[in-house]
Amino acid sequence: GATLGVMGGGQLGRMFVHAAQRMGYFTAVLDPDAASPAGLVSHHHIQTGYLDPEGLARLAECSAAVTTEFENVPAPALAALALQRPVAPGAEAVAIAQDRAREKAHFVRCGVPCAPYAVIETPEQLAAVPDELLPGILKTARLGYDGKGQQRVATRAELAAAWAGLKGVPCVLEKRLPLAAECSVIVARGWDGAMVHFPPQLNLHRDGILAVTQVHEGNLPKVLVQRSIDATKSIANGLQYVGVLCVEFFVLEDGSLVVNEMAPRPHNSGHYTQDACDVSQFELQVRALAGLPLTPPRQHSPAIMLNLLGDLWFASTAQDAATEPPWARVLALPGTHLHLYGKHEARRGRKMGHLNITGASAAQVRATALEAAQLLGLEAF
Ligand code: ATP
Ligand code: MG
Ligand code: MG
Repeated sequence: GATLGVMGGGQLGRMFVHAAQRMGYFTAVLDPDAASPAGLVSHHHIQTGYLDPEGLARLAECSAAVTTEFENVPAPALAALALQRPVAPGAEAVAIAQDRAREKAHFVRCGVPCAPYAVIETPEQLAAVPDELLPGILKTARLGYDGKGQQRVATRAELAAAWAGLKGVPCVLEKRLPLAAECSVIVARGWDGAMVHFPPQLNLHRDGILAVTQVHEGNLPKVLVQRSIDATKSIANGLQYVGVLCVEFFVLEDGSLVVNEMAPRPHNSGHYTQDACDVSQFELQVRALAGLPLTPPRQHSPAIMLNLLGDLWFASTAQDAATEPPWARVLALPGTHLHLYGKHEARRGRKMGHLNITGASAAQVRATALEAAQLLGLEAF
């Protein structure tokens, strides 16, 4: 069998490896961490830095094609690999997704509305920020995730202090919008431009981190379903994208749809596809990379995903000792599917796993998910 390579060894890489192995591929993971979730389950684990020429050469040598699993894999590493092997997504698309300023410019180019914003890279740009952008959210242009690197600012003085606190790194200031809901759409696009999509996911965030995803008929108004799918497809086409792409949206209180950001890879909000769809987002990543047909995925069951953060390991005790959550009680509920990422150490805010809940109806899935949430000490939704 051929070997498929992946840059990055986190949980997304691990689930890509699982999907690839199921289809008979060998895998190679490049990640410096000896205990990386994907490295632990891969045939080859290349333990070097992402820009190490020797590591990249070894990955290219053993892989028929290479993909990426976390968005901060340096784009130059992907460009270097692309000289030797097909790489999807490509360095250029990943570079755009890695930079909020370039990302927003791309959304504008595609005619998809995003939050009013200003790029702040110089004191002059800071001074020129229009008042209408306040209150806003200051986001570092690069390297932010799970709400890290973001600060809410209400006044010009707070904005200036926040930017100074970030040592003046390039940032984007976004107007704070009145959100009614958040959703995301995942597409897979092949080398020939053929594209398939999953239904829009309704997402609930807590403290800037995805907490709950709900996907069933009627989770969003029909017009928003169509609009978010169309917008995601035009964003993917505009990038000549190959692979799995997720686009996150805000639904505003007035019912309008605004694009937030994109992730050039499978996404946390698409994990339900493992148990609720006939083809998962990870299988589509394998298919796209390997040049296999992309068949339209069919959701066969309504689904809810609960994210399992490290906090759960500390929920039952007052001490600092981590204890395993009550999995047996959760798994006694019909239609629960537990996915744990094999991370050895639980830390607060760390993504340790997720629980997918499927059932015959949206109401039944919701009832089960609420029971599971209660057993785990998670807030109701
Ligand atoms: P990740 O990549 O892990 O999804 P991130 O760090 O890139 O997260 P964003 O998606 O930019 O962060 O923002 C995190 C959350 O903060 C959003 O899902 C939303 O709940 C809230 N948020 C971000 N921008 C705005 C905005 N302009 N107005 C209102 N809420 C916002
Ligand atoms: Mg992000
Ligand atoms: Mg986000």
